[in-house]
Amino acid sequence: MPLTTVVEHRRRVEQLAAALRSSTGPVRLRKRTSNLFRPRQDAERTLLDGTALDHVIAIDRAARTAEVEGMTTYANLVDATLPLGLAPAVVPELKSITVGGATTGLGIESSAFRFGLVHETVDEFDVLVADGRVLCCSPTEHAELFCGFPNSYGSLGYATRLTVRLIPVAPFVRLRHERFADAARYFAAIAAECADPTCDYLDGVFFGAGDFVLTRAQLVERLPVDAVVSDYTWMQQYWHSLRRRADDYLTIGDYLWRWDTDWFWCSRNVGAHLAPVRLLAGPRLLSSVTYQKIMRAGQRYPLKALQHLRPRAESVIQDVDIPLARAASFLAQLHARVGITPVWVCPFRVTTGRYPLYRLRTDTPYVNFGFWDTVRSQEPDGHYNAIVEQLVAQHAGKKSLYSRSTFDEQAFWAMYDRHAYEALKREYDPTGRFPGLYEKTVGRG
Ligand SMILES: Cc1cc2nc3c(=O)[nH]c(=O)nc-3n(C[C@H](O)[C@H](O)[C@H](O)COP(=O)(O)OP(=O)(O)OC[C@H]3O[C@@H](n4cnc5c(N)ncnc54)[C@H](O)[C@@H]3O)c2cc1C
Repeated sequence: MPLTTVVEHRRRVEQLAAALRSSTGPVRLRKRTSNLFRPRQDAERTLLDGTALDHVIAIDRAARTAEVEGMTTYANLVDATLPLGLAPAVVPELKSITVGGATTGLGIESSAFRFGLVHETVDEFDVLVADGRVLCCSPTEHAELFCGFPNSYGSLGYATRLTVRLIPVAPFVRLRHERFADAARYFAAIAAECADPTCDYLDGVFFGAGDFVLTRAQLVERLPVDAVVSDYTWMQQYWHSLRRRADDYLTIGDYLWRWDTDWFWCSRNVGAHLAPVRLLAGPRLLSSVTYQKIMRAGQRYPLKALQHLRPRAESVIQDVDIPLARAASFLAQLHARVGITPVWVCPFRVTTGRYPLYRLRTDTPYVNFGFWDTVRSQEPDGHYNAIVEQLVAQHAGKKSLYSRSTFDEQAFWAMYDRHAYEALKREYDPTGRFPGLYEKTVGRG
């Protein structure tokens, strides 16, 4: 997609702001794609159409920054930066995730052990707030909104333009997959990498008791003469390769999107792990965007009626962040009490405690655990998601809010700083044009 001009960008923002100003009552952002996993119940809100704000505006090679519109997908941003030998410092691994969504929704990837969560790699952004103004927010301008925006999930306003930090990248990535049978040794290896990195990208997978993989990935300019570049965009599945090979090479583009083709491993839930299906689908359809559409269609009538024919199950789709020293204990209890495998393991660190709605410690790395599946259940609905929340609280962690939450209000605000949030809401949305954070993320407003 070609870059847009600043004039065109301003025109699109003004259209969105005008739509907000000329409407009354509660509003909601309309986007082309979504990675939200909590069904929403609000028919009453006016939709503000943000779909046109999906362009890259400019790339500054010298400053290593990209200016993008709020609904620009990482796929489009990466397409614009890779030919220049640059990539966003943190690229969330699903192609349809947008820069605005990842900044407000705590995006993460395997470079986060060096650079932090997505919002820590965003230098400034414009936010459309409830009275129709567009405020430029940075650590020095509207700093309280700049810091309060991550984890606000569109409840304080919508990011319309962001400045994203870029890093130099090489054409290829060498991957080394190391297997571990012992949790203590596994998390010690992660701690060692966080303290003194030997690689550019770091993530891993827990496949079950005694079966861990840690992947260290290194940017490389040239391939060794005998190296073969793998391709996991069609018939082969990346996640199987982790236990089958110790070494591997990918192009930088295929590395960044290595998890998208099979939505980590969740493509198996729609039959896309089967060879004939893959053959027919082809690389273009094998993508998280396709699986999202299928899953959403499955939640609608008449397919919903078929759910009664299946065994009862609870959907547990969560990403949680646990301080590294408590990670082994958390994972053991998660495995014993919920039992989902595989689990994605992504270490990260934060450099500042300035984000009140998702305040994390700066004196320890964290581990993000991602698990996305259903659990057979005879329990009341919500039982397993509530267990996850209890385990997160017991291990001094935090939980992302893109998916289902069952907290009562008191437990919720103990985790996400009510005082700071209410002050921001009074300042930027005093009449409640956007849903409140609790109403939106727990009440599904
Ligand atoms: C199965 C699954 C796996 C995931 N794995 C990862 C992962 O590995 N790495 C990762 O980084 N993330 C992951 N996510 C989470 C994802 O990054 C967040 O949910 C993120 O918010 C999605 O961004 P989006 O652009 O798709 O926004 P949406 O899903 O469309 O919206 C998310 C929320 O952000 C708000 N929002 C969207 N755009 C803006 C904006 N411009 N301004 C203000 N508010 C806005 C929306 O109103 C909504 O409340 C995963 C999500 C799922 C469902």
